Amino acid sequence: MTVTAHKETHGFQTEVKQLLHLMIHSLYSNKEIFLRELISNASDAADKLRFKALENGDLYEGDGSLKVWVKADKEQRTLTIRDNGIGMTRDEVIENLGTIARSGTAEFVKALGSDQSRDSNLIGQFGVGFYSAFIVADRVTVRTRAAGESADRGVEWESAGEGNFTVADLERADRGTEIVLHLREGEDELLDSWKLRSIITKYSDHISIPVELWQEPFSAGEDDAEQKEGSFEQVNRATALWTRSKSDISDDEYREFYKHISHDFEDPLAWSHQRVEGKHDYTALLYIPGHAPWDMYNRDAKHGLKLYVQRVFIMDDAEQFMPTYLRFVKGVLDSNDLPLNVSREILQDNQITDAMRKACTKRVLDQLAKLAEDDADKYQKFWGEFGTVLKEGPAEDFANREKVASLLRFASTAGEGNLQTVGLDSYIERMKEGQEAIYFITADSHAAAANSPHLEIFKKKGVEVLLLSERIDEWLMSHLSTYKDKPLRSVTRGALDLGKLADEEEKKAQEEQEKAAGPVVERLKKALGDKVKDVRATSRLTDSPACIVTDEHDPSSQMVKLMKAVGQKAPEVKYILEINAGHPLVTRLEQLGDDSQLGDWAELLLDQACLAEQGGLEDPSAFVSRVNRLLLQGLS
Ligand code: ADP
Repeated sequence: MTVTAHKETHGFQTEVKQLLHLMIHSLYSNKEIFLRELISNASDAADKLRFKALENGDLYEGDGSLKVWVKADKEQRTLTIRDNGIGMTRDEVIENLGTIARSGTAEFVKALGSDQSRDSNLIGQFGVGFYSAFIVADRVTVRTRAAGESADRGVEWESAGEGNFTVADLERADRGTEIVLHLREGEDELLDSWKLRSIITKYSDHISIPVELWQEPFSAGEDDAEQKEGSFEQVNRATALWTRSKSDISDDEYREFYKHISHDFEDPLAWSHQRVEGKHDYTALLYIPGHAPWDMYNRDAKHGLKLYVQRVFIMDDAEQFMPTYLRFVKGVLDSNDLPLNVSREILQDNQITDAMRKACTKRVLDQLAKLAEDDADKYQKFWGEFGTVLKEGPAEDFANREKVASLLRFASTAGEGNLQTVGLDSYIERMKEGQEAIYFITADSHAAAANSPHLEIFKKKGVEVLLLSERIDEWLMSHLSTYKDKPLRSVTRGALDLGKLADEEEKKAQEEQEKAAGPVVERLKKALGDKVKDVRATSRLTDSPACIVTDEHDPSSQMVKLMKAVGQKAPEVKYILEINAGHPLVTRLEQLGDDSQLGDWAELLLDQACLAEQGGLEDPSAFVSRVNRLLLQGLS
């Protein structure tokens, strides 16, 4: 092999430079993973070649047996990982080994700081891939030639992992890629074949093509009686993990396989492995990750399963098999029904896809239900990572609405502070006799929800209310009107109907108070004019003088805010002002003879009710001057 010409020096993309630097320092304690990453890339390259060769068998160049070879050279102090996969062209080398193409990378790198343990965790989530070679090597040489190209189209890439890299043309007869690591000082143990064997079997046993390790020539005994020439020996099992029987696969193997397909450093929370036969014939191995990826809310982020057809890799990120609200699920699907030449377009509108998607969705939801039942702590961890995504479920997946709803967790007046630990089933168990609905409140923050005046009567009656304060909650609740035949009711909407919860005596007392409040209600109505939809006396308040309520058919104030936040035109909603007829402030107002003074007081009542409900006012300065006017009156 000789480097012929056309040598260029390129600078790494800024993000790569930063990432490289941080990675070398923060991942050092985990350095062995570089081998997993490189073998994983080699196996992906073999998968890609097999897929392309379905259309064009010539790409095999007469040799269809795909492999990875690992060889240490003690004299040179190098470690070489070689494959006969798809290889790369010059342009691909520059693109793939000089930049990171994922959207949001710059933001990600910015989030990295000086805390090494935190960074190593973050980098792990990002996936380090090829660049991890620099954890153990101070120089890396890549020689590659794309399958189907002539021998003179080889490329040599080289870098010390600092600012730049070189690329040059190369004569290379072998198809595929070899990566030569010039080991850093002190990394000699990586030249030891026992060490390498143990790393490979630990991390890469499940790789579906053979991984062969170089065994040094060996001689022992008198006159070298026992002699063995150097040779490559297969060290992994080389069968696709998901094709093996469940009983034959250890938890560790499942975990390692997860890391291979997900590029995640952490263990998955749970998995399910199933062979389906009958009308459809496929294998599904689905994982619930232990943590949310950094780009879960990035619209362009890739998600989906790895799709195989009859054991042949077809595509990554086949998103057609999972609904969007389960986009965090990772895994492999291997279908025996789909055609080998299946494309994303074909998958789009396809009965087999639909059936598999339905079954896989059910599988994941069942798995989550089981996790919730068997291991509350683990489920809580899951909820903390993915709860907000799961909340998209009831709107997206009507058929599974009830099932998804049973997996939801909320903060609650019966729960622990702002922790989302209460499920709808446990709420129902605690419902009071005569309670017909599941009550909830949505607000901007947990504190605003927990301290809302709307809860006063519920607290008094000991009725639990779910406290919702995430942005998505309003959207979620608008798609979840019942659960197990119980209506879900917002405590801030419509007239308060406690149904059988209100006792007769209370009802009577309330009616009397309302009657007595009649005149002041009328006066307030007149004073506020069209600033409100209505004014009425209420029984929902015990401590506060007033609150605002959304009319049954109007969008709630949270929904209006949400619409404004996403730039939608929100309807102008007027609220109903409800007053607590028993509150001293209201009784004093009744005594106020002069209607000209009532105006300021009426608006003040309305403003403070809005403030408690929405955390802000349309016209704060008018509010301030009004308060000052009234203060001055009080002082003089
Ligand atoms: P990732 O594998 O997550 O895409 P990497 O940094 O590990 O990121 O690799 C970047 C790209 O380089 C890969 O997507 C692939 O296209 C290419 N690549 C890496 N290793 C090989 C290889 N052994 N053979 C062919 N292409 C490779």
